[in-house]
Amino acid sequence: MPLAEILQKYEPVIGLEVHVQLNTVSKVFCACSTRFGEPPNSLTCPVCLGLPGALPVLNRAAVDKAMRASLGLNATINPVSVFARKNYFYPDLPKGYQISQYDRPLAEHGWLEIDTAGGRRRIGVTRLHLEEDAGKNIHEGLPDSGRNSYVDLNRAGVPLVEIVSEPDLRAPEDAFEYLTRLKEIMLYLEVSDCNMEEGSLRCDANVSIRPVGQREFGAKVEVKNLNSFRYLQRALEYEIERQSEVLDSGGRIRQETRLFHVADGRTAPMRSKEEAHDYRYFPEPDLAPLRVDAAWQAEVTGSLPELPAAKRERLQATYGLTLYDAQVLTASRALADYFEEACRHSKNYKGIANAIMGDLMASWKAGGLTVETSTIPPAHIAELVALVDEGAISGKMAKDVFAAMVEKRQPPRALVEAMGLRQISDTGALEKIVDEVIAANPSQTAQYRAGKTALLAFFVGQVMKASRGQAQPALVNDILKRKLG
Ligand code: ADP
Ligand code: ZN
Ligand code: MG
Repeated sequence: MPLAEILQKYEPVIGLEVHVQLNTVSKVFCACSTRFGEPPNSLTCPVCLGLPGALPVLNRAAVDKAMRASLGLNATINPVSVFARKNYFYPDLPKGYQISQYDRPLAEHGWLEIDTAGGRRRIGVTRLHLEEDAGKNIHEGLPDSGRNSYVDLNRAGVPLVEIVSEPDLRAPEDAFEYLTRLKEIMLYLEVSDCNMEEGSLRCDANVSIRPVGQREFGAKVEVKNLNSFRYLQRALEYEIERQSEVLDSGGRIRQETRLFHVADGRTAPMRSKEEAHDYRYFPEPDLAPLRVDAAWQAEVTGSLPELPAAKRERLQATYGLTLYDAQVLTASRALADYFEEACRHSKNYKGIANAIMGDLMASWKAGGLTVETSTIPPAHIAELVALVDEGAISGKMAKDVFAAMVEKRQPPRALVEAMGLRQISDTGALEKIVDEVIAANPSQTAQYRAGKTALLAFFVGQVMKASRGQAQPALVNDILKRKLG
């Protein structure tokens, strides 16, 4: 059954668990570097190797960043939070437990807003806690990979925050939007690079369905292995279809953990042995409870940048942008700064927004550039918009000037001069050309004056040709009508 039809009958309920790797210089409980892509096991020490007797020491910078993430999600930071051991066996976890937080997390009761087809909605963030990452098992890519697996512990001990949402999402697109906004906030806060391919942003999705109108939630399934935004949406769509088929055929949903398989876009149950967890959480005896006093919280609060939602609203109010334009232009802090810098040079804000979102962003994409590496400064975009507004060049000419800006890296006004492109909007000069065209075409002039006014287009064409395309068409029309009439 197509999804749209399923959604007439069942309402999905979705909650996300997102792991964000914090971009600290060193690991969360030792001084090892967090650099990505170094030789396996080169960034390790007795603490992150889990050697007996080694003791963890909390990295203050990791707490700072976790606090920034919490405040950026409008969560309340607990004055005291407690580290806990989450016990399980896996080769990438040498200690046999992960240091995490359990019943007393760093922060709780947050939210973020998403824009959906049905309007703006607030999605609850249940909790945010600080924990250490595990290492990585390597099953592929080595000469003996057919027989052996290896463990790389460079990632073991890198700080993570886990951000758990309330089951407030109601559609796969909501989940996509939530993750988009969450990532944007983390990037604005500069606490993570949120690179999904490198695993610094990871997402598990919990999903259930219930008959439309029913209050109680259905049994949920947790879907893992969603390492792109697309996969998240596709996995949820697949799960909603699968669950509806189970219910429609009189079955019950088994509460279980499933893995998303990229190859066929389906989910399949994890082996139950892997799924059967009894983590035996208990407070970490080697770390004191984490105390955050008012002064520390005030310090972090004072260092927060303007966040995406506030920036969107301010850009809409200050520059008269639509929500869509504001969303595109606040996709990163740097892009919003670029836009605002351009707006200091021209008051045609809509024109500047269009130029950035059109030709400029297309040229970045084509040239493998970003706002950070752009060769065109904001002032030049504003100047190009102003040249069109002044009537110095036509919108069509602006395209050519822009192409020259990309190629020659010069300001548009200078290029217009150098290219001899300046649009003729000087009435005197145009009148002279019009007079010449009329004089050169006596029979057409006579026909026009006898009532064949459709010939106006012919005259306009002649004038444009004589001016090598530089005459301002509206002005040419006026002058021709006056002189011929
Ligand atoms: P667990 O005990 O399995 O960890 P939690 O209640 O802690 O379950 O919730 C884990 C995640 O699952 C949260 O993101 C939450 O929003 C989501 N969730 C909880 N119940 C449901 C449900 N019935 N359907 C979909 N998601 C749910
Ligand atoms: Zn270490
Ligand atoms: Mg839970």
